[in-house]
Amino acid sequence: MSSHLFSPITLGSLTLPNRIIMGSMHTGLDHSEDPFGRLAAFYKERADGGVSLMVTGGVSPNEQGLISPGAMKLTDAEQIEDYKIITNAVHESGSKIIMQILHAGRYAKQEDLVAPSAIRSPINQFEPKAMTQQDIQRTIDDFVHCAYLAEQAGFDGIELLGSEGYCLNEFTALRTNHRTDEWGGSLENRARFPLEIIHAIRRKLGPRFFIQYRMSVLELVEGGWNIEEAQQFAQLLESAGIDLINTGIGWHESSIPTIAMQVPRAAFSWATNKIKQAVNIPVAAANRINTVDVAEKIIQRGDADLVYLSRPFLADPEFVNKAQEQRTNDINTCIACNQSCLDHLFNFKTVSCLVNPRACHETIMPALPKTASPRNIAVIGAGAAGLSFAIEAKKMGHHITLYDANEDIGGQLLYARKVPGKEEFDELLRYFRVMIEKYQIDLHLKTTITADQLTSSQYDAVVLASGIRARHLTIPGIESPTVLTYEEAFEKPDKIGQRVAIIGAGGIGYDMAEFVTHQTDGKETIESFNNNWGIDSTGLQPGGLDSAKKPPLNKLREVTLLQRKAGKFGRSLGKTTGWIHQAELQKRGVQLLGDLDYVKIDATGLHINKAGEKQHIPADTIIICAGQESRDELAVPLNKMSSKIYKIGGAKEVRELDAAQAIRDGIELAYSLHS
Ligand code: NAP
Ligand code: SF4
Repeated sequence: MSSHLFSPITLGSLTLPNRIIMGSMHTGLDHSEDPFGRLAAFYKERADGGVSLMVTGGVSPNEQGLISPGAMKLTDAEQIEDYKIITNAVHESGSKIIMQILHAGRYAKQEDLVAPSAIRSPINQFEPKAMTQQDIQRTIDDFVHCAYLAEQAGFDGIELLGSEGYCLNEFTALRTNHRTDEWGGSLENRARFPLEIIHAIRRKLGPRFFIQYRMSVLELVEGGWNIEEAQQFAQLLESAGIDLINTGIGWHESSIPTIAMQVPRAAFSWATNKIKQAVNIPVAAANRINTVDVAEKIIQRGDADLVYLSRPFLADPEFVNKAQEQRTNDINTCIACNQSCLDHLFNFKTVSCLVNPRACHETIMPALPKTASPRNIAVIGAGAAGLSFAIEAKKMGHHITLYDANEDIGGQLLYARKVPGKEEFDELLRYFRVMIEKYQIDLHLKTTITADQLTSSQYDAVVLASGIRARHLTIPGIESPTVLTYEEAFEKPDKIGQRVAIIGAGGIGYDMAEFVTHQTDGKETIESFNNNWGIDSTGLQPGGLDSAKKPPLNKLREVTLLQRKAGKFGRSLGKTTGWIHQAELQKRGVQLLGDLDYVKIDATGLHINKAGEKQHIPADTIIICAGQESRDELAVPLNKMSSKIYKIGGAKEVRELDAAQAIRDGIELAYSLHS
């Protein structure tokens, strides 16, 4: 057992058996048909998984504070019974749950929005109205009423969200607070709004009501405060009677990544440490803490008293139990891809998880008992789809034989893990390996299975998860030795020359551009990350920014990334991570060229037609990243088998296929076969 992580701690009136808080997450379930039932199932599964204290997604104290129309709010006594569905479910499992009060301020995606000053956020089309004195007083009353209703609904306390550039943070930051009255100007004045709220809640609900405050530490925007001011604010929070300070990093409008895969693990706990040094109440660290080891070290080093993990609980609801039982290798680790959580949220879809598609779908895909009719199933292909099916179906009690021609499991994941900044895919591969071992799946690597072999075997069903192959192009000269598929380039990087043209600017084209332009394996240390993104770790600079730090990155190779279509590059990249890839490529001087046709390839490079003009791109290596084709040759001969044939992943459909879709396909098939 990890001695630091699993030592009890008292936070005001709450005592926890360990130092792990499940952090606040927007799930998008508020827009579902049964929001409270589904949220209750989501939280209960995590409570059963050992979480002792969890925080809900943001709940607005009034209409103006709604992050978007239809988002969660608690403004009325009539809503108490709904929220009790959640608190009762969590309490039944012996855990505690607090409600996060989130006033979106100028981030509200709706027309009736308010902020300390009428300054539009660069990431919102709507301009806020500056709050009047009456608005401010009414909003304070709304926070108090909301906290009171939360207590009535059975919540064990509240978290006030005062970070990431939301309303409370907008008051404390000079960037967004240009007021000249008692609510603006000095730090004391800017802090007045959140402090008045805390005092008023304490007056109403007493000293034992648990209040946690998520404050902004490193703002990572111009006009943000420095660490010294953040420390002073933390001391004001302590004096106001806050039970725990949780530390937020960066504003949503910041152009520095704070939670994506490219951010080193625990990259910001040094900043949390500065707050811990300034106060005597417990402090929690957040951001890119995804493994037990990393969490343990943060507590051990004394950077924080607790860790605040959110996405890791989408990836694995049993994170805490597994950690406590020292089964850390059994943990399905959050790889910080954002693909099925935040990208879904910003595309108005229900949140889920790439590595765990059951997340936020607990009522739709409940944990199932063993099947009453186990089948003998062959799975062809140990990539993401085949692996997820094989493991889930084996758990359900089917007999699984898994074949793959490769010498290792993983399929396309083996390439993803080679992309600089995407090393977290190794955790997914580790998880699959451990599960194969744990559930004793009959795995046959280096085995190319034929239709005849399958036909002569006694399988009740065959699952074709044979994946994809790189699309074959017919450009004249494509057979030239200077042309590599992306698979060949990842496998034999020594074949890549100094001048590279990449055909295709989808997800893999971007990944390849990173792969060929990184000096090292790309693994950032916290120091190199801070240097690359201009983060001031001394704590002296406003906003935690140090623009002098950004070193010009050396160009390892001359690279041109091409697409035929006109218009913006990177449209298929993730909504919340695409900008990071764009910034990385820009730093490495990768040229983007679109609106063209490919004419031919010869020893001098690539010839294209652009706007009716012939152009030549000098290149000694041309890498094809032009999408894929299904590898489903076995489908036709297998049709003569009496057993059922199912296709999943790339063997079924290559359009919009990614790891998330492949894993979801595997799990969904396992569920559909259950009886
Ligand atoms: P993709 O995203 O569909 O991109 C294929 C690229 O090839 C496009 O730029 C396309 O642009 C070009 N192309 C298509 N047909 C072509 C042809 N016949 N000749 C020349 N160029 C052609 O596919 P991918 O990059 O292979 O990625 C596969 C899947 O994995 C996608 O779903 C992707 O989103 C996912 N993925 C995601 C990430 C991520 O970071 N989230 C990373 C890697 C992969 P033009 O047609 O304009 O030339
Ligand atoms: Fe983590 Fe990716 Fe799952 Fe989001 S989708 S919780 S980032 S693994």
